[in-house]
Amino acid sequence: MSEPAPHLSPQEFRRRGYAAVDWVAGYLERLETLPVTADVEPGWVRAQLPGQAPEDGEDFAAVLADLDRVVVPALMHWQHPAFFGYFPANASGPAILGDLVSAGLGVQGMLWATSPACTELETHVLDWLADLLDLPRAFRSDGTGGGVLQDSASSGTLCALLAARERATGFASTDEGVRGLLTVYASSETHSSIEKAVRVAGLGAAQLRHVPVDARLALRPDALASAIAADRAAGATPCAVVATVGTTSTGAVDPVRAVGEVCRGEGLWLHVDAAWAGVASVCPEHRALNDGLELADSYATNPHKWLLTNFDCSAFYVADRAALVTTLSVLPEYLRNAATESGKVVDYRDWQIPLGRRFRALKLWFVVRHYGARGLRAHIRHHVELAALLAERIAADPSLELAAERSLALVCFRHRDGDEASEALLNRLNASGALLLTHTRAHGRYTLRLAVGGAGTQRRHVEAAWEHIAAAAAAVSG
Ligand SMILES: *Cc1c(COP(=O)(O)O)cnc(C)c1O
Repeated sequence: MSEPAPHLSPQEFRRRGYAAVDWVAGYLERLETLPVTADVEPGWVRAQLPGQAPEDGEDFAAVLADLDRVVVPALMHWQHPAFFGYFPANASGPAILGDLVSAGLGVQGMLWATSPACTELETHVLDWLADLLDLPRAFRSDGTGGGVLQDSASSGTLCALLAARERATGFASTDEGVRGLLTVYASSETHSSIEKAVRVAGLGAAQLRHVPVDARLALRPDALASAIAADRAAGATPCAVVATVGTTSTGAVDPVRAVGEVCRGEGLWLHVDAAWAGVASVCPEHRALNDGLELADSYATNPHKWLLTNFDCSAFYVADRAALVTTLSVLPEYLRNAATESGKVVDYRDWQIPLGRRFRALKLWFVVRHYGARGLRAHIRHHVELAALLAERIAADPSLELAAERSLALVCFRHRDGDEASEALLNRLNASGALLLTHTRAHGRYTLRLAVGGAGTQRRHVEAAWEHIAAAAAAVSG
């Protein structure tokens, strides 16, 4: 008989666990003193590592030391208070600890029966979240629908399009094949994950219609109706519309109610992608974001972007869970069990693409219980106020202009001297290491994006960012 592997004893695990938590706390503490982005050449990280895995196990202290030597210098510090790029990927103490507990429990919650707590806590916390965001009742588990945690909004969109595809074809297309028959609609500003989902769902990328937008970069319902009519006239079967609440480029909000009315009239599935902006409706003053949601078949928002829950945690809701479950359920003999057969439980494997799933709800539960509704509202409000302050300064600066109306905590702007000056401005800012912004094109023009959203971002960080921006803008004008 060979020896067992050299596992950690509970005492050894405890000691190393404290050291690892200490290391994370230390990292978060000194984050602000680090440049926001990594300055390493491609291949640098691999060049620091041995070519082969160790034959004999190493000391944990050596592993931790390599975090400082190899990992930290090659990070973009997403939790840095001067990180204003992309959209935020909030982490928070309670969420980090929730993930640690999830790893510690190590359960696989594919079925209710494989850990009832994993399923029921998730259902319950998603009902809480639906209430906190004031979502329509149909999205709650005690209505016809319910929520599930996905790894990402991209996965939610894929599930929505699959269910839409099946509903449009009498739940038979898996056997028949549908490539080239069904059409999907989204605005020209929609996220790239929509096209990916259309491809993966087997509809064919050419079946995605990019509907024109208005001056505020929001989808035009009249253009949507014409596109649907043209497709019907050409013999296609319109199947689904994806509306965006808070586009990735500029935070534009599609008119969900008008889009929903078109969908109802035409019998199309409406998915609402509110990946970043949706969580802002924890604040009553942002509830206009929910207007028309009762016409939606599915909805997604990411606590892992702007609600203090570290990646991955995307809340996906459906109004009719039967359509989703019928689409995704395949039950082999080895998963049969009495609870499933009783019809009294939720088996979340039928609500997502993979079979296996981790205990993601813990971190969201920790977050909601630590901050409370009041704390979550304060988090969103603080950032929206800081972004408003910055937008005012930008609008008043002689060399800058807003490229779109501020959307919540996202400010889009450009240099008045044109695209080259705007690009030079972004490069100059990011090269300083003192802050990070990203860019897009809005109305065809090079546009800087500044998204306030770091858990640690305070007024002083935004004031400092403004100093950098004003100085760089003047230098670029030179
Ligand atoms: C960020 C974003 C996504 C993608 O989110 P993931 O969770 O990374 O898949 C989709 N749609 C919009 C509008 C986004 O802003």
